[in-house]
Amino acid sequence: SCSSSLHVPPPACMLRPLEVPYRYLFGPGPSNVSPRVLAAGGRPIIGHLHPEMYEIMNDIKEGIRYAFQTTNLMTLAMSGSGHTAMECAVFNIVEPGESVLVAINGVWGERVAEIADRMGAKVHTLVKAPGGYFTNEEIEKEISKHKPVLFFLTHGESSAGLAHPVDGVGDICRKYNCLFLVDSVASLGASPLLMDKQKIDILYTGSQKALNAPPGTAPISFNDRACQKMFNRKTKPGLENSWRQHREVAEYLWKGLEDLGLKLFIKDKDLRLPSVTTIAIPEGYNWKELLAYMMKHHQMEMTGGLGPSIGMVMRVGLMGYNCSTFNADKALAALADALKHCKKHKA
Ligand code: PMP
Repeated sequence: SCSSSLHVPPPACMLRPLEVPYRYLFGPGPSNVSPRVLAAGGRPIIGHLHPEMYEIMNDIKEGIRYAFQTTNLMTLAMSGSGHTAMECAVFNIVEPGESVLVAINGVWGERVAEIADRMGAKVHTLVKAPGGYFTNEEIEKEISKHKPVLFFLTHGESSAGLAHPVDGVGDICRKYNCLFLVDSVASLGASPLLMDKQKIDILYTGSQKALNAPPGTAPISFNDRACQKMFNRKTKPGLENSWRQHREVAEYLWKGLEDLGLKLFIKDKDLRLPSVTTIAIPEGYNWKELLAYMMKHHQMEMTGGLGPSIGMVMRVGLMGYNCSTFNADKALAALADALKHCKKHKA
């Protein structure tokens, strides 16, 4: 029969109805949710582009603005856990090499410091044992010392059971042109927090604690200061940035090559591949000699043509991690040096 070709048989659980026991969720979350919320989860599925869907999404944003006490336009519910919002905040705000200050008095600060470190930020930490808290004087001292672009504080430190004071911290951050990021996953809805009044620039929470919804949506809000920083970043995460970067570096390289008196093999700029630039072999030079010279004296690989283009071109590739104007300058300097030193042959 047909099914004999299936080497993974259907699991027995597929043949049984789903069983979920009732539990008293008196831990640090998720918590039991109200019958109204449970019933909402059983409503029919509609299309993501249906008008009712937009209305529901707008209602959700309004609800988050109310819960956060903010009028920020950039307020939304992310699909994911609290960690999703945590990573979203740090990843969108901070660029590699920028300084970040993280208050650690439990596991959540440690987690944020780890995320920022993996992203290539310069991470400074303010550390207390679990249960400890930071005075505004201590915070100001560190911010003035490290000049971070972002300061992270956990409002509800669920690993230690501490509600951290927030008043005045936003003012300190503004004084030093730093953004104030607060984790309220375990506290929002349980302990007063007023995003706008307390000058919090980025605030996120989770759905499965005091907000009393199932896990899997993470409300987050960015104010205008935070949006400014995000929209003006020089490096942008994502594919479009990679395209732009390759194009910009290639144009820089092309200009430099022409300034050296070299001719580009593809005349039409719009038809040039940004990752691999082909240079017409300059008249009177032996291309193998040029390449060998750069390898020997500059430890740099460039190559000749391939197949039918052998003897017609030299190829310079600046791709991915290598794609920078710094490296383009290195390539140009090596070529200039090779052109100067490699003997001219009869054309
Ligand atoms: N921050 C705090 C303060 C938390 O208590 C939690 C969850 N325990 C998180 C972040 C992470 O949230 P999630 O488990 O939804 O990823």
